[in-house]
Amino acid sequence: MSNASLRLVWVYPDLLSTYGDQGNALVVERRARQRGLDVQRLDVRSDQPIPTSGDIYLIGGGEDRPQRLAAERLLRDGGLNRAAENGAIIFSVCAGYQIMGHEFVNDLGERSPGLGLLDVTSTRGEAERCVGDVLGDIDEHLRLPQLTGFENHQGITHLGPGARPLARVRLGKGNGTGDGTEGAWNDTVFGTYMHGPVLARNPQIADLLIKLSLDVNALPPVDDRWYEALRDERIAAATQPA
Ligand code: GLN
Repeated sequence: MSNASLRLVWVYPDLLSTYGDQGNALVVERRARQRGLDVQRLDVRSDQPIPTSGDIYLIGGGEDRPQRLAAERLLRDGGLNRAAENGAIIFSVCAGYQIMGHEFVNDLGERSPGLGLLDVTSTRGEAERCVGDVLGDIDEHLRLPQLTGFENHQGITHLGPGARPLARVRLGKGNGTGDGTEGAWNDTVFGTYMHGPVLARNPQIADLLIKLSLDVNALPPVDDRWYEALRDERIAAATQPA
């Protein structure tokens, strides 16, 4: 694996990087390097073109106005859609997740078009904002341990037939539609409401992204003790009676 390289693109850190979501880029970068991969990480601000030759694209959460601006710029740029056509792996969080869908409701109360890379549609939830810890069972096809993260969003997301739920929540709201689903995925594009950063709390998801981009079934193990300690702490805090 030592000759393999990985081009990692962190999309719009100036607009979409709430709740430490940039940690997702750090985690993927580190875990890839630990496997001997030559990682080129590119942080692309919203006034720069999105490169189309990346292997993994990460996109984070954001407040409502930056979310609208990010969607407008990504649509105008077209690079992320071209990268997706090239088979790139995309992992998106919260506002980023909503932008991957067909549309969402923006800060002006209007419907903004998304990139249409995930068969999901987001609206503004009528109920109170979804805030708090989340625990969930990840789609069995992905064979991953329990999902842990925290959510903070007003938007809610409905899945179409072309997207599978990333997880079923045991605790928390997830997609917020009341059907118990959280996030969505298809073969190459993933979306979740989970912050944490989610890939620090769920490093196996970071490894999944690396495996998909390299088209391999397994990666050499790495020392996960710090990740496990964080997971244990957050799961205990989430399940502790108030
Ligand atoms: N602005 C979006 C919402 O409230 C996303 C929030 C976020 O990314 N944390 O639904």
